[in-house]
Amino acid sequence: MGLIVDRRDQDFILYEMLKIQDLFETEKFSELSKDVFDMTFDLMQQICEEEGLPAYTEGDRVGAKFEDGKVFMPECYKKLHKVMNDSGLFTMAVSPEEGGQGFPYVVDIAAREYYAFNMGFTLYPEAAVGAAHLIDVHGTEAQKRKYMDKMYAGEWGGTMVLTEPDAGSDVGALKTKAVKQPDGSYRISGQKIFISSGDNDLFTNVVHPVLARIEGDPAGTKGISIFLVPKFMVNDDGSLGARNDVHVTGIEHKMGLKGSATCSMSFGDNGNCYGELLGEERQGMKIMFQMMNEARIGMGLQGASTASVAYLHGLNYAKDRVQSTSIKDMMNPDAKPVAIINHPDVRRMLIWMKSHVEAMRALVYLCAYAIDRKEASEGEEAEKWHGIMELLVPITKAYNTDMGFRVTELAIQIYGGYGFCQDYPVEQFMRDMKIASLYEGTNGIQSLDLVGRKMNAKKGANFINFLGEMNKTLADYKDIETLSDISKDVLDSVNLLGEMGMYFVQCGKEGKFMVPIANSYPFLNLMGNITLGWLLFWQAGIASRKLEEIYKENGVDVSDKKAVRAFISEHKDAAFYDGKIHSARYYAKHVLPQAKSLAESIKSEDLTCLKISDESFAS
Ligand SMILES: Cc1cc2nc3c(=O)[nH]c(=O)nc-3n(C[C@H](O)[C@H](O)[C@H](O)COP(=O)(O)OP(=O)(O)OC[C@H]3O[C@@H](n4cnc5c(N)ncnc54)[C@H](O)[C@@H]3O)c2cc1C
Repeated sequence: MGLIVDRRDQDFILYEMLKIQDLFETEKFSELSKDVFDMTFDLMQQICEEEGLPAYTEGDRVGAKFEDGKVFMPECYKKLHKVMNDSGLFTMAVSPEEGGQGFPYVVDIAAREYYAFNMGFTLYPEAAVGAAHLIDVHGTEAQKRKYMDKMYAGEWGGTMVLTEPDAGSDVGALKTKAVKQPDGSYRISGQKIFISSGDNDLFTNVVHPVLARIEGDPAGTKGISIFLVPKFMVNDDGSLGARNDVHVTGIEHKMGLKGSATCSMSFGDNGNCYGELLGEERQGMKIMFQMMNEARIGMGLQGASTASVAYLHGLNYAKDRVQSTSIKDMMNPDAKPVAIINHPDVRRMLIWMKSHVEAMRALVYLCAYAIDRKEASEGEEAEKWHGIMELLVPITKAYNTDMGFRVTELAIQIYGGYGFCQDYPVEQFMRDMKIASLYEGTNGIQSLDLVGRKMNAKKGANFINFLGEMNKTLADYKDIETLSDISKDVLDSVNLLGEMGMYFVQCGKEGKFMVPIANSYPFLNLMGNITLGWLLFWQAGIASRKLEEIYKENGVDVSDKKAVRAFISEHKDAAFYDGKIHSARYYAKHVLPQAKSLAESIKSEDLTCLKISDESFAS
């Protein structure tokens, strides 16, 4: 059993559920095959299990350092970066023309699941590739050759530079200024904070995409432009030139992600910070949204990956740790203590974690696959998948990160007191996970994006299309006998989601705007809860049919429960599919009902949180 990702589950979601092999029929991905992906996953798994896991702990203990104005990253990260970079593992989704492998985005996301939990390390290569991709899509040919090539090659780093002391969630409040020069370049001045990978001793140069306002441009997000600001200027022959006037002034001391250098930065202290416009003036937010969308899906992946590694560690520990006799032996004074996986409360935690991990993995893969489906199709079909991706991004980011955090917390619970100690990695999983609900737009901001923008986009067409996809799979599997006790639960919950969408529209018509706004986060939870339930039901539908075939092929009498149990304990694939049905059933019976109570509380239209005065919060 791997300790980071359940490879069997990964394959199941990619090939049996999403059927990504359909992409091989399209022109864009016709050169690719499952064999190529399998080899990449094998390599990724081997590197991340053997070198990534030890570097995870060491990076946390050593941490990033700031000395004499320079930033140093943990040495173990450099070694890991070299091994992975040499194997092309950071540029799988980059087009072959630009030196990548042209893999579908969903495969890139699935492969990255092996290291996404280690964000202390991951932010260095991913910020570099993400910034390079911005230049790939929006840069001039000259900018691509000057900056992007070396960033994709893993020689130069990158960042995303938005946040300022008074401009966090409210990016439009930024004060960083750009002044146009006679040669067409800009001089940038301002202070930025919380910039991941702002500097380090891994890359020889760092290219910062910086949001700033050109002198005289309007206030708010509409007046923002984006500039490429290199740490070192680049000569015409590609060699490094003079040091640019951009400096790290310190790094944060954080509760987690300690290996990641989160930098405060000063641009233009000496009035000489060179920047080049990327794209058009005042298009900064639109351009940066490409990187933010990718990063938000990346955060959803951080949630799924961390939940997975925490679950697998918890499961392993539960099979190993012997404590207390079984409840079945409570009357037997001679009974021996058993592994804690035998205790009902531990099993309850494990199945909660299992079902969430499998659904969160499916959610982030689906979100990425929607991008591939869009790329591989045209016209209305392409538009439909783009819309579904847009709708799913805030849910993937926020729900996966919140649930990921809860899974890590349960992993600690399974370890008992040991889980609270640094001898085991689970406490670090939880510390490192927390940030994901905060950066890339807090989860509160994600919920406002969902309710305020994404649900209403194209007059609700994206939401309706998504409901259509849900209903399609429900119709496919609703008559399966083994799922008859949960199919109505799932169907009702999907109908409830549709009703809540209509209810918010009605609130708008009646001028009750504050009901959706004040309840945006509960609504995101409702939609996340139902989406995960649907994804698990879909998985259980496939698994039920496969299991039926396996039983038939092996002559198993399904009415004989003992024989079925014995068969499952011997037959790996049967155990896997059986586990899928249990995940869906547990979720439908124990987690999905929460959607109803969320709906009830939202529909109560109670706005106590707005009515209570500031003074009444505490006397
Ligand atoms: C480790 C780390 C790495 C980071 N990396 C980067 C990076 O690489 N680049 C970068 O630019 N930034 C980065 N950030 C910054 C991060 O994106 C911000 O911290 C985040 O966007 C929130 O901004 P803030 O901290 O100023 O919180 P605030 O904006 O002050 O928010 C505080 C609280 O108020 C809520 N809130 C604010 N406005 C509203 C509203 N309108 N409606 C409802 N609720 C609201 C928020 O949800 C939150 O709960 C990083 C931060 C950290 C800690």
